[in-house]
Amino acid sequence: MVEHHGNTGEHVTKQIFVIGGVVSSLGKGITSSSLGRLLRSRGIRVLQQKLDPYINVDPGTMNPFQHGEVFVTDDGAETDLDLGHYERFLGVPLSQRASVSSGQIYQNVLRKERAGEYLGQCVQVIPHVTNEIKERMRAQAADDVDVIITEIGGTVGDIESQAFMEAARQIRRELGPENCIFVLVSLIPYLRAPHELKTKPTQQAVMLLRQMGIIPDAIVLRCEQDIPEAIKEKIALMCDVDVNGVVSCPDASSIYEVPRVLYNEGLDKYAIKKLGISYQDIEWGEWGDLLNRLDNLNKNVTIALVGKYVDLPDAYLSVVEALKAGGFAHLAKVNIKWVDADRCTTDESIEEQLEGCDGLVVPGGFGSRGIEGMINTLRWARENKFPVLGICLGMQCVVIEYARNILGLADANSTEFEPNTSNPVIATMEEQKSIVAGNGDMGHTMRLGSYPAILKENSLASRLYGTTNVTERHRHRYEVNINYKDRLENAGLTISGTSPDGELTEFVELDPETHPYYIATQGHPEFKSRPYAARPLFDGLIDAALKHQEQR
Ligand code: GLN
Repeated sequence: MVEHHGNTGEHVTKQIFVIGGVVSSLGKGITSSSLGRLLRSRGIRVLQQKLDPYINVDPGTMNPFQHGEVFVTDDGAETDLDLGHYERFLGVPLSQRASVSSGQIYQNVLRKERAGEYLGQCVQVIPHVTNEIKERMRAQAADDVDVIITEIGGTVGDIESQAFMEAARQIRRELGPENCIFVLVSLIPYLRAPHELKTKPTQQAVMLLRQMGIIPDAIVLRCEQDIPEAIKEKIALMCDVDVNGVVSCPDASSIYEVPRVLYNEGLDKYAIKKLGISYQDIEWGEWGDLLNRLDNLNKNVTIALVGKYVDLPDAYLSVVEALKAGGFAHLAKVNIKWVDADRCTTDESIEEQLEGCDGLVVPGGFGSRGIEGMINTLRWARENKFPVLGICLGMQCVVIEYARNILGLADANSTEFEPNTSNPVIATMEEQKSIVAGNGDMGHTMRLGSYPAILKENSLASRLYGTTNVTERHRHRYEVNINYKDRLENAGLTISGTSPDGELTEFVELDPETHPYYIATQGHPEFKSRPYAARPLFDGLIDAALKHQEQR
């Protein structure tokens, strides 16, 4: 039924399940991504996948304060932020098939039930829900995919993830142990008073797993410090795992170091041998260059992130990683200063907040909180020639600020924040065309996924990208109002990129003759950034910030 899915003939896409024990937040996502990178570097064709036990259909409607960033794929899926790690490590764009929630599974099962597809059967968790899960686990199997690494969210023993665990057990049974392995990521706590590393929580996590019929093939031990051989041997004995499959993964100075850590521990070779895949010697390639850069960072630069979700840095995870990547390109370590936009009320408070910073980002966001502070800060940065990158909501604020303070339209606003403004410089396309908008489904009124833009020759944007044809991913409802385009341009705000039909504003900028770096985009370039390949607007911001620092 599900065994081979997209596979024809002899080829079987193999599966590695990554699961977590003891506590959450151990870095299962980074572990999965790092293993994926290592296999890729050995010529193995890898895809990744995240299974989230929550009932939301996708994280699109979740509060960023609770769930962190919503990552967007090329094909417009709103996904868990772990997909961002997968893409940054693997260097391969993933599709909506890489992100699965219980909500999607149940939605599909219920749709089938209503459509009579179960032919009158009693619909149950086993087999109906587990079959649905198995289908999604194997959906990326294809002749050009050697391995799927599937991370199961949550921790062993959670009620929510039980159906996923059961489905994974069945997949192993169907594919055979030579085609499917389990990697447990677990915690080894260090107790200060007796100076001891404790293995019991990991043993108990393995006992719980066994009750579900799963025996791990490898255990990645997360710890504040390196794990000595004796502890690994104890875990191997007590948990019935090959000692070569017990690896130490102490906290690293950068997440991008983790592939090197796991390589030194031999996890990739161990997994490859278990799965009987042919492989080449590792070729570090661009990752090797990245590690070199990490070893040789020789300057520091501080960028202010002026937003509303600053209490939970995960809400801007990809922006932060994209800024770091911009830093790597210049051998600079990027420090982030989290600035609550609500505190940016006057020039004095803005200067106080931006103390020690050499550039700023106004990132994406929804709702009116913090907007006036973002607009104030953008005006201050424009007047004081302070480097600026605006992303999505950030670009909309750039336009509102320019319309208010340069065009003199004092009530210019987005209809998102002020539906009755007489100058809706930002509005939905329906509002711009005066069509009544909306179907009431919060999940489906957005421009989502990858869209092309055409850049003006010789603009800052086209010089940064080195081309006039670019694509970036989007996630927003509102657009620059085309009716204000000419007025904005005539007043000096260059619209340097639009959709191919010219209707949608994609990039705006100030003339580099008048401001060293003031650029904003409607897309989210952070989603396509890679640690070894900084996205142009971030690279440009760090470059401008380093120059600002020199002049300070
Ligand atoms: N709230 C704005 C919109 O919906 C911006 C969205 C964003 O920054 N991702 O258009």
